[in-house]
Amino acid sequence: MNVVIGAGISGLSAGQLLGDDVVILEKNAVAGGLAGQYRAGGFAFDYGGHYFHFQGKPGIKEHVEGFHSFRMYRRDSKILLGKRFIPYSLQYHLAYLPARLRRPILEEIMVAGGEGGDDLESFLQAHFGEKLFQLFFAPFMGKFYGRPLSTLLAGMDKGSIPVPRKEEVLAGARGRQRGGEGYNPVFYYPEGSLQGFIDDYGRPLAGRMRCNEEVVRIETQQRRVHTRAGSYRYANLVSTMPLRALLGMIDPPPPFPRRQLQHLSTLVVNVVLSRRRRRFHWLYLPEKRFPFYRAGYYPGSGAVAVYLEKTVAAPSLPDARELFRETVFTLRQTGMIADAREILLHDPKVIPVSYVVFDRNWPRLVPGILAHLRRQRIFSIGRYGSWNYSSMADDILMARETAMALAQS
Ligand SMILES: Cc1cc2nc3c(=O)[nH]c(=O)nc-3n(C[C@H](O)[C@H](O)[C@H](O)COP(=O)(O)OP(=O)(O)OC[C@H]3O[C@@H](n4cnc5c(N)ncnc54)[C@H](O)[C@@H]3O)c2cc1C
Repeated sequence: MNVVIGAGISGLSAGQLLGDDVVILEKNAVAGGLAGQYRAGGFAFDYGGHYFHFQGKPGIKEHVEGFHSFRMYRRDSKILLGKRFIPYSLQYHLAYLPARLRRPILEEIMVAGGEGGDDLESFLQAHFGEKLFQLFFAPFMGKFYGRPLSTLLAGMDKGSIPVPRKEEVLAGARGRQRGGEGYNPVFYYPEGSLQGFIDDYGRPLAGRMRCNEEVVRIETQQRRVHTRAGSYRYANLVSTMPLRALLGMIDPPPPFPRRQLQHLSTLVVNVVLSRRRRRFHWLYLPEKRFPFYRAGYYPGSGAVAVYLEKTVAAPSLPDARELFRETVFTLRQTGMIADAREILLHDPKVIPVSYVVFDRNWPRLVPGILAHLRRQRIFSIGRYGSWNYSSMADDILMARETAMALAQS
């Protein structure tokens, strides 16, 4: 039998291709993981995954549309600097900066040589110059990662930080707008709700899914997975739980320092508002005055729901009153509310493992750990299983490729 740990988007995608002799063990009461939703005060909020970006993943859009219909959105995201709402990405839209900032930034970018070292700080400085680095990248990414950018590897962000050609920078400085750069110029959201899609996506697997079954131990020699309720013998084990947690469950323990696998925890404040005052999809907040690094509107035509995100050191909720004060401050300063009375509901959630940190330990450890597990017939996949940076569409692709290889082996 093949056993899958986790009924998030990766576990469901793998389960679909592993035949009838498969069981999916999920610790929560419902499927979805971070691609699911939860309800509070009569409203449904996404956990983490919001938009699907299908670019460069042929066949995935058609695959998910076989289960549910999706609506396309053209990205309208902004960066707030002072009182200016600047279209994302800043490097393509220098015309929106005041001339005293624009000129020296432009001069630096035009002579920037590119490449730099392998760390994120020198990658950004080499491509965008010191001034743009100090104005946007250092404060924004410093707030997001909560650690020096010189300790991070550039590789992870190369895809999500588009590097314009010099003539594109010049055109942007003269006011010619672009919209197609970056990893998600258009994106998709399920009609109705994200949970509606997940329910449709998981329905064919209903008989093979065991919810409220938390895996607590994996015996590799006997190839046996233990849950709180029982145990399952596996021929192949596909795990989608965070790699760091998986390593802690394996018996005998594999010879890896799992605590050196670093990650971020994200606090998301979900808010329902009485009206929509801004049109952007999401807004990047580099400035120190904002405790959050991003604010965004949930897609869909129902209630006006927004989220505010910040990186937190510990996966526990901070003081509720202080958090509400920060929420009101951010929503007012960004023009998303005029008055705190427009807030109908606010609900904070912490995502304990939200983003993997690509520091110097990552290349030293992760590929070797995944190869070691594969030799023991454990296939650790998905954004957190493979300890990587991926979107839901990437996760579907990875899960399908893994399951197809297993089905043929
Ligand atoms: C703040 C945030 C915003 C994001 N925005 C986007 C976005 O806009 N677009 C996008 O494409 N992606 C986005 N992502 C990424 C996206 O959410 C993930 O790539 C995707 O949801 C990962 O799916 P998964 O199935 O691999 O993992 P998960 O969703 O984490 O699923 C793993 C499952 O395993 C279960 N599990 C864990 N431990 C056990 C255990 N011991 N026993 C049994 N079950 C267990 C969990 O309950 C869970 O259901 C975002 C992520 C975050 C954090």
